[in-house]
Amino acid sequence: MTEMPKIETLDVELPDGRLFVGGEWEAGTGAEITSIFPADGSVNRVLRGASREDGVRAIERAKKAQADLAWRNLRPHERARYLYAIADGIAANAERIARIQTRDTGKTLRETRALAASAAGTFRYFGAALETSDEELTTRRGDALTLSIYEPLGLVAAITPWNSPIASDAQKVAPALAGGNAVLLKPASWSPLVSLELARIVEASGLPKGLFSVLPGAGREIGNLLVEHPDIARVSFTGGTETGRKLARQAAEKLMPVSLELGGKSPTIVFADADMEQALAGILYGIFSSSGQSCIAGSRLFVERSIHDEFVARLVQATKALKIGHPHDPATQVAPLVHFDHRDAVAAHVARAVAEGAELLCGGSVPSGAAYERGAYYLPTILAGVSNTARICREEVFGPVLVVLPFEDEADLIRQANDNDYGLACGIWTKDFPKSWRIARAITTGTVWINTYKQFSISTPFGGEKDSGTGREKGRAGIRAYMAQKAIYVDLSGAPLPWAAPQVTP
Ligand code: NAD
Repeated sequence: MTEMPKIETLDVELPDGRLFVGGEWEAGTGAEITSIFPADGSVNRVLRGASREDGVRAIERAKKAQADLAWRNLRPHERARYLYAIADGIAANAERIARIQTRDTGKTLRETRALAASAAGTFRYFGAALETSDEELTTRRGDALTLSIYEPLGLVAAITPWNSPIASDAQKVAPALAGGNAVLLKPASWSPLVSLELARIVEASGLPKGLFSVLPGAGREIGNLLVEHPDIARVSFTGGTETGRKLARQAAEKLMPVSLELGGKSPTIVFADADMEQALAGILYGIFSSSGQSCIAGSRLFVERSIHDEFVARLVQATKALKIGHPHDPATQVAPLVHFDHRDAVAAHVARAVAEGAELLCGGSVPSGAAYERGAYYLPTILAGVSNTARICREEVFGPVLVVLPFEDEADLIRQANDNDYGLACGIWTKDFPKSWRIARAITTGTVWINTYKQFSISTPFGGEKDSGTGREKGRAGIRAYMAQKAIYVDLSGAPLPWAAPQVTP
């Protein structure tokens, strides 16, 4: 491994740590949060998160703002203007947002710049979707006009994880505002700053006060409040499967719908007839970009037996050549993990896999060299020699750790790939299109990529199967997830209903 060049820290003015409570900037009164820069462990900001009292205040302000007819009765193009203004605000501040997010999460600037651009696009898309989404005149059965219309739900809580905060925030906040709701956003404690910056941009858009809050804080404190409070009509959650399960149980008590974007252990599949260069690039990007901290990381690789050894040898060689480095270095491919605690958790997964019989093909430790000593770095790691029932093949690591397994034929592959609790994504490399179609149909998963991986379109719905969640985000129908459908029947006959006619006609 080559020694890292000294990178000058690109500084950025960070949000001051106050929370955005129903349109007011206020110091939190909940548990302390420390945001660190994982590249060197330096402290970005120490702030107090939101307490239950802060949350209740935000809810009261949101209720008042959402009930205001000036907001509820806005025409679609008028409401869309706020979404366009937020999109413009994000685009104008994209570099600043990228740097704040890099400091919060350790992601490369290259990636956080792309995430900021994507967040702006998301607001713009939902503004356009709002302006062009129709309500329905449904087929009449008799003398009545039958309509299906959509109303705002009221107050929506958006709970997001730390791995891509600005993108996951936008994916929930944009359609929920487009639906005419008030939104209370709770980002994860490891990444509170970029969501607070989003609050500043939303405020500058002129959105009426109270309709948006940003409440970082402990899940058990502010997170629980948002799920349990009777005035919250819907929770949209992205995070770990166990948290999602707990939240769904709480939501069931008040019969509240929840959408859950949860974890994954996604299979990637290389057939003997694949374009090897394309497959190698896709597998490397699928697992090691974002240092593997991605719900859709392709973390279980299945390679057809006849090419297994050759392909894996090339993959190991290419993995060892990845550039591990500072998030500000444009050449960096693998940046530090989000936090030292998370790195320890990833290392523990690998140590346990090895203790249980896995063979370490590369990585499995922190990189050596002075440049890496102060950061939460971990080497891209490949494990082999286990069966699909091993814990390392079943549990989400959420780090740069790939496990490789051979397969014999299509039937064997489909059985192994589906033999997992998760069902979020899948990647298939083959030149045989009918075969890729068969496999794509047979794998229980929300998304399939064929000869590519981790590509997204805001127009295409996204979500998981099995323990990877329920519900879909994105796409034109994304707004409807934040609205209540209502049926209206209007009599056209002008006559009394015949059932009651004998009583009402003299
Ligand atoms: P997490 O479940 O620990 O936390 C997610 C969010 O939930 C945070 O804001 C957290 O504070 C909050 N939370 C925790 N306990 C809560 C409670 N009792 N009530 C309400 N809120 C609570 O997840 P994480 O570690 O922040 O993120 C990593 C996980 O997110 C991984 O499992 C990853 O796969 C998943 N993820 C999924 C997607 C997807 O779209 N499917 C995308 C990104 C990340």
